Amino acid sequence: MALALSPAGPTPDPTFQELVAARPWLMMDPLAGLLAEEVPLVRIAAAVGTPAWVYSATTLRERTRELRRALAEAGLRAKLHFAVKANPNLAVLSLLAAEGCGADVVSEGELRATRAAGIPAGDIVFSGVGKTPRELTLALAEGIGQINLESVEEAEVLSGIAASLGRQVPVALRVNPDVDPRTHAKITTGRSENKFGVDIALAPEAYAKLASLPGLTPVGLAVHIGSQITSGVAAFQAAYRRLGELVVLLRAKGLPVQRVDCGGGLGISYRDEAPASAAALAGAIRAGLGRLDVEIMVEPGRWIAGPAGLLLAAVVLQKQGLQRRFVVLDAGMNDLARPAMYDAWHGILPVAPSHFTAPVSPADVVGPVCESSDTFARNRALPQLAPGSLVVLLDAGAYGVSMSSTYNARPLAPEVLVEGARFAVVRERQGYDALLSGQHVPPWVNRS
Ligand SMILES: *Cc1c(COP(=O)(O)O)cnc(C)c1O
Repeated sequence: MALALSPAGPTPDPTFQELVAARPWLMMDPLAGLLAEEVPLVRIAAAVGTPAWVYSATTLRERTRELRRALAEAGLRAKLHFAVKANPNLAVLSLLAAEGCGADVVSEGELRATRAAGIPAGDIVFSGVGKTPRELTLALAEGIGQINLESVEEAEVLSGIAASLGRQVPVALRVNPDVDPRTHAKITTGRSENKFGVDIALAPEAYAKLASLPGLTPVGLAVHIGSQITSGVAAFQAAYRRLGELVVLLRAKGLPVQRVDCGGGLGISYRDEAPASAAALAGAIRAGLGRLDVEIMVEPGRWIAGPAGLLLAAVVLQKQGLQRRFVVLDAGMNDLARPAMYDAWHGILPVAPSHFTAPVSPADVVGPVCESSDTFARNRALPQLAPGSLVVLLDAGAYGVSMSSTYNARPLAPEVLVEGARFAVVRERQGYDALLSGQHVPPWVNRS
C-alpha cells in the first residue's frame, strides 16, 4: 500500500536523506548516528537527557553573515536587529551580538535579556503593540536606540514619560501598509484588519503629530507584515514600495525621515516551501527604498535562528490503535507549540543509523500532554521505534523554546549550543523546585 499523504500538502514528504542534505549542520554518521555539527546527538542526550533543544553556533553565524552580505551587495546601508522573541537564549543573543547584530525586543523581559547578553542599549529597538508605561520608562532609562510606536495614543504616553524624565527619545512610526503576505492567518500582521501599526493612509498625520510632541525625535518608519512569508517577494516589494512613497511624501512636508525599519518575516523551508532568498529580500528593499538615502534596519528572527536549532526527544513508547500507529515522545506541545498552534510541519528524523535505513510505515507522532492537539505529525513515514529511541524535530531554533510553557507541570527543557566538536549547556533543565517556587497556600484555603 502506498503511504498516505501528509495533510500538509499534495507533494510527498521529503525523505530522511533529503531532510539531512538540506541542513548543512546535520550529518548521518554510519556509526555515531545523527551528528549536530561534529557532536553525536546520542552524546547530548546522555549528558542532559531529553527533551532538549540543540542549536548550531556555526549555522547562526553563517546565516547572519549571509543576510548581511546580501544587504551589502544590494548597496544598502543596513543594520540587523535580531527579533529576540524568536530565541531569547543569552548565549544565542551573545553570539549574534558578536556578529554585530542589534536586537528587536517586545517586552521588559526581552529588553533585560538583551542587556544581560551585552547588547548596547543604543542597538536595541523596542517594538510591540502594548508597551506599558513601566516598560517605556525602563527603555528610556536604559538609553534605548529606538522605540517603534504603534499609534498616536502610544506616542502621547511616551512623550509624557520622556518629558517628565527630561529625555529625548528616537522614535519610528510603525505603518500598516495593508499588504497580504499570504502566510498563516495567525502570523499575518500587515493587513488593515490587524492590530499592528498605523494605517498607511493615516501615517502622514500621525508622523506630523509625533514630530510635534515634546521628548520624541522622529527618525523614520517601521513596517513588519508578518512571519514565515514564503509566497515570494511580492508582498515585501509592495510594502517597501508603499513605505518609500510615504518617505517622499513626509519629506515633502518638511518632516525628517532618516531610517526605515523593514521588519522581519522572511520564511524558511520547513517542508518544501520555497521562500524568497536573502538576496531577493535585499532586492525588494533596494527597489522600494534604495534611492532615498535612508538607513535600513532589518529584524530577522526565524530566518536566522529557525534552521539553526532542533528539539531532541526520546520515544516513550509506540502504541498501535485501530487505525493508526502512535509514536509517543517525551517532548510535547508545551515544548514545541508550533504544530498545535499553527498546524506547522516539522521534519522528524531518527538519530540511530539503523533507523535511517529501516523500512518505514505511517505513524502519528504525538506528545504526552493531555490534548489532542499535542500532535507533532500525522501519517509520517517512520521506522519502528522502540522505547528510548531518539528522534529530532527539525528547524526548531525559532519560536521553539520561546513559546514553551510548563503546561501539565512539565519543566522547561534544557538548551545546548554546539560548535564543531564541542557543546555547552546554555540553559539547564528547569528543576522541580523552580517549577513550584513562588507559590503560596494561604492558611484559610484548607480550614476544615
Ligand atoms: C516577530 C517580529 C519580527 C521577526 O519576525 P520573523 O518572522 O521571525 O522574522 C520582526 N519584527 C517585529 C516587529 C516582529 O513582531
